[in-house]
Amino acid sequence: MSDQYDVIIIGAGVSGMYQLHKLRELGMSVKVFETGTGVGGTWYWNKYPGCRFDSESESYGYSWSDEVLQEWNWTEHYAPQPETERYLNFVADKFNLRKDIQFESRVAKATWDEAANQWDIELEDGSTASAQFLISATGPLNAHQLPRIDGIDSFKGDWAHTARYPKNGFGGRGNDFSGKRVGVIGTGATGVQVIQEVAKTADELYVFQMAPEWCAPLHNSPITDKEMADIKANYKKLFAFCGETFGQFAHQFEESSIFDVSDEEREATFERLYGEPGFGIWLGNYAEILSDPKANAMITEFIAKKTRGRVNDPKVAENLIPKNHGFGTRRVPLETKYFECYNQDNVKLVSLPETPIERITPTGIKCSDQEYELDIIIYATGFEGVMGSLNRIDITGKNGQKLKEKWVNGPRTLLGLQPVGFPNLLTLVGPHNGATFCNIPRCIEQNVEWATDLLVHMRDNNLKQFEPTLEAEDAWTEHVNESAEMTLFPTADSWFMGVNINGNQKRTFMLYAGGMPTYRAKCDEVAAKGYEGFELT
Ligand code: NAP
Repeated sequence: MSDQYDVIIIGAGVSGMYQLHKLRELGMSVKVFETGTGVGGTWYWNKYPGCRFDSESESYGYSWSDEVLQEWNWTEHYAPQPETERYLNFVADKFNLRKDIQFESRVAKATWDEAANQWDIELEDGSTASAQFLISATGPLNAHQLPRIDGIDSFKGDWAHTARYPKNGFGGRGNDFSGKRVGVIGTGATGVQVIQEVAKTADELYVFQMAPEWCAPLHNSPITDKEMADIKANYKKLFAFCGETFGQFAHQFEESSIFDVSDEEREATFERLYGEPGFGIWLGNYAEILSDPKANAMITEFIAKKTRGRVNDPKVAENLIPKNHGFGTRRVPLETKYFECYNQDNVKLVSLPETPIERITPTGIKCSDQEYELDIIIYATGFEGVMGSLNRIDITGKNGQKLKEKWVNGPRTLLGLQPVGFPNLLTLVGPHNGATFCNIPRCIEQNVEWATDLLVHMRDNNLKQFEPTLEAEDAWTEHVNESAEMTLFPTADSWFMGVNINGNQKRTFMLYAGGMPTYRAKCDEVAAKGYEGFELT
């Protein structure tokens, strides 16, 4: 017989860990299945060179434990991956979370059993478990995607996708690439972080770029003891501030309209934001840059000018300036001397539109004009965004319906938390959920607390099943798509639109672009009205 729980959670990342803690506090029996050998989700998997936050460290930690807030010291304003992984392990230790997490356990199948009113889970090794409620905490960027390039398995050197990069680097050399010829494919936020780190030590670094991304400076720096003491004294204020902002980052849009200020004032604002740390240039800018093509063109031109000013070779500079989308219509990679890397003798940009990759060979990468001999290839080629991690589990709901088939033309959910036909399933940070466009832990806390309240409501009222109505699902899906159309995000191909050229997802908006304050209010309203839009039986 299968092990039986009240709740099964898939994934022990930032959301799975908090969800486990919340439900266990209520005395529920909970099991978390996690593919990896440790906690941390994205911060467990992404061990690639240069991986770090783009949110301010102190705004990224959990807010729900004063003890954790007061005991943990962040050392940099944008913490590197090892520090964040240590932080999440610190939380796991403190709350003894590992006791209920089964590691090295990939959930392969989840099947709804209507008669038993439960989800039956099957792991990759064939073992099984069941629970009345299933909560996916699989993360929006978990299903990593290797490129479809001929010969990829033939390469005899070291290689990895960034989301499966070896913990201590190749041959235990950490981030030391001296004596090595390295190729990086992909120039999104991950590629940018990898490139600027590898460029420091590699003998030769070849960047294989299909299309560039708009980037802006991160301006990272250490956190002094005095700053950390101030942060600790002001956490409440910080979280309250984040709670008011569109994406729960510690950045609020400019109050004035871009169209009401003079050219000089606008340029001065852009300059100031470009010189400030973090996402201010994106989410602390004039709000219209994300919704109005004319406003977007102004910031786009400004960033192009900045980029040109940082790259010595004008032809290389032009190749680093995106031509197919405006600034901020994809999530903006924050960089540290990224553009200056291309002024170094050891770094060469290979523009794939000009010289496409023909194949990977045993010794390197063969482009249309020449072969690049390499010791290491790093694939920073992204993820099958948002739906990918759920689609890689064989999830079957009522009447044998597969979730993957239901979502073949794009997600349909209520609040990004549950699709019709999949009773007692909650998808934390799932498609069309407010938490997808977010400083994720801030929104995860909302998702987890809302889910917890629902399960408490079910228990207290002796209810067995919850599922959205079709009308409510239709209405939410329409609202999500309408909100997206009010922004410029759908104008760019990106994981926001489910696009990864190596994947198969239909191009459709995957996030919720109405802003987290609106999302939170809608969730609260649904709950206050007795979970309006859900059928509770
Ligand atoms: P991504 O934004 O999807 O970028 C993937 C890159 O790989 C793109 O440049 C893409 O080119 C390229 N690519 C894909 N297939 C290729 C192929 N077959 N040949 C050549 N190039 C190929 O993925 P990502 O960089 O991993 O970033 C995803 C998201 O993760 C970010 O938007 C961000 O939300 C998050 N992230 C955050 C941080 C942080 O600072 N906290 C760091 C890294 C990532 P095209 O775009 O031209 O298709």
